[in-house]
Amino acid sequence: MCYAIPGNVKNITGNLITVDYFGEERKARNDFYDLQVGDYVYAQGGFVVEKIDEKLAEEILETWKELFFELKKTDVRLSKLYNDKPDLDKDFLKVIDKATYGKLISRKEALRLLLCEDPDEIDLLHKSANFIRQKFLDNACCVHGIIEFSNTCVCKCTYCGINSENSTLKRYSLDTGEILEVVADAVKRFGFKGLVLQSGEDTSYSSDKILKLIKDIRRNFPVFIFLSLGEREDRFYREAFDAGAKAALFRFETSDSTLYSQLHPHSSLKERTRYLKLFKDIGYIIASGSLIGLPGQKAESVIDDFMFAKELGCDMYSFGPFIPHPDTPLSDYNTPDTEYILKALSVLRLIDPYGKILVTTALESINPQARRQALMSGANSIMLNLTPKDYVGFYDIYPNRATVDVSVEKQIADALQLLKSIGRAPTDLGI
Ligand code: SAM
Repeated sequence: MCYAIPGNVKNITGNLITVDYFGEERKARNDFYDLQVGDYVYAQGGFVVEKIDEKLAEEILETWKELFFELKKTDVRLSKLYNDKPDLDKDFLKVIDKATYGKLISRKEALRLLLCEDPDEIDLLHKSANFIRQKFLDNACCVHGIIEFSNTCVCKCTYCGINSENSTLKRYSLDTGEILEVVADAVKRFGFKGLVLQSGEDTSYSSDKILKLIKDIRRNFPVFIFLSLGEREDRFYREAFDAGAKAALFRFETSDSTLYSQLHPHSSLKERTRYLKLFKDIGYIIASGSLIGLPGQKAESVIDDFMFAKELGCDMYSFGPFIPHPDTPLSDYNTPDTEYILKALSVLRLIDPYGKILVTTALESINPQARRQALMSGANSIMLNLTPKDYVGFYDIYPNRATVDVSVEKQIADALQLLKSIGRAPTDLGI
């Protein structure tokens, strides 16, 4: 099964190539292969991850041809923007209008949208976000797999169930052989082209061990690697990029430095942000964001988080609900409403028409309908959980995580069925 469509190389300038997908051209960076014009490649996250045999590529493209255009048609139909409620507040409509033309909206305007409560306004906000997503990004939807290879962590994040102070949790760390087996299955059996390697800040994995793992993965499997490992030495991140990891999933958690310090006694927002700037400097694709609904967090702060993430140059946004964990100091607080998170994701889409927006597992965990709703409200990326079933229950960052007891096969089938029904192509077509 393929989550990416083979592209035909049209032009090569240094390590930048132009790839054609049924007449649509995208740029991608090639760090790994000796390519000629006319070759076929898979690109993920704007990087070439595999060179494909011409005959195989043409066979795959033949099966995709009709579906490719059919999906686009469905998406265009479902993302049409119309407002049959002309009496809505003029200021609200002005902001919506501005954003649908791709113009920047201000912090104040974004706040006005996030605070809207009129059901007709909320409906138009979601439809506008979906329209903007279609207009600027078309119907591609990233489908990455995540492997949570260790729940051991030295951090003390007060919201997180795997924080080092939680002595009730059984800890696990997969050895590199086990991780490679999961990667092999993900790539060879299930066809994943993009994988996130995530763990707590587990010091039992030395930098050299992880670098070797990245090299082993890249040597054996054509896959785009995201790292989500937390704060490690700068040198490690430089070497990991050269070893073949090209993206970092690393939330700043909140852009409010006082709140950050309250929630993270072991670290500071300044240090967290420094890493994101470092990743950007090195050349990583960065995915970042914050927790929405944290105790003491105001709507203004959520908008600040969006603006902050955009300023950092995030390629992908990961904003999801805070879900209280019973064995943490924040156990007595409430989970935010699905509707608030969906509104927030739509506002984010109006703030940045071009960034990818992830539907987080946390959102899917508070509402089983939320994946579809979020994809219809501006989001365009999902993650499936590939952590082996003997361990996945112990990656207990918050309770009742979605998909913990769902097989990979079923997760894939459900995702593909949903994406097809709303006209999205499960592929990442490059930058
Ligand atoms: N160690 C890595 C890091 O520092 O980025 C990744 C692991 S960390 C457990 C992954 C993410 O889980 C965090 O960025 C945090 O936002 C999220 N998370 C932790 N506890 C959560 C909770 N109670 N509700 C929602 N998300 C939570």
